[in-house]
Amino acid sequence: MVGERDEQCAGPSGLTLIVTAQLKIKNSKSKTAVPSRWRKEVQSVLITEAQIARRIKTLAREIERDFHGREMVVVALLNGTVVFLADLIRQLNLPLRLDFIGVSSYGLGTESDHLVFTKELRLDVRGRDVLLVDDILDTGKTMSCVIARLKLLKPRRIKTCVLLDKPARRVEKITADYSGFEIPDLFVVGYGLDYAERYRNLPFVGVLQPHVYHPPAAK
Ligand code: 5GP
Ligand code: MG
Repeated sequence: MVGERDEQCAGPSGLTLIVTAQLKIKNSKSKTAVPSRWRKEVQSVLITEAQIARRIKTLAREIERDFHGREMVVVALLNGTVVFLADLIRQLNLPLRLDFIGVSSYGLGTESDHLVFTKELRLDVRGRDVLLVDDILDTGKTMSCVIARLKLLKPRRIKTCVLLDKPARRVEKITADYSGFEIPDLFVVGYGLDYAERYRNLPFVGVLQPHVYHPPAAK
């Protein structure tokens, strides 16, 4: 289900760089059983709690390396990042400040509509190194829009970090600097991600049963 590769390649100065390849989740036919508590609504586990925990540790090491000695401001997008963010920042051995931007792109369905900003940033990021965290990079519209808005505040640089990446759906020309898992074109829930504001508390990333989206018509 998950393949991890550490590739070595020569940098421009002949130094050896270690590149941790993004983990690719190839399909949703996970062998991990759905916990009985969720079986009625969740069809399959795409990424387990243990896989997420392992991956976050590697991501944190990459981020530490790049932000070493800098004044870091972590800017997280509400609400989908809360679980990922809580685990990620506790793995970061760096001084950091934390703030949130509230942005909502989904109503009750699974398709993106227009973006609504529900909370503005309060910390001053001028001249700072920003780590912008989101749950998932899908079409890329949210990230692109938030980056454009953040740039107006004149940070020194903005690096982006997402737990999940769905490149098949990309509309905007954007890639994340740090990305946990590349997933196929599936609508996923759990570990902070919702469907109609539910399922954020699943400890894993999973795929819902079709009947959750299309409940049988009332008789
Ligand atoms: P984008 O603007 O890149 O299309 O979408 C980003 C936002 O859409 C994410 O922050 C997330 O809230 C939502 N989103 C995109 N794909 C999924 C998905 O598979 N599951 C859930 N729950 N939300 C998603
Ligand atoms: Mg979101």
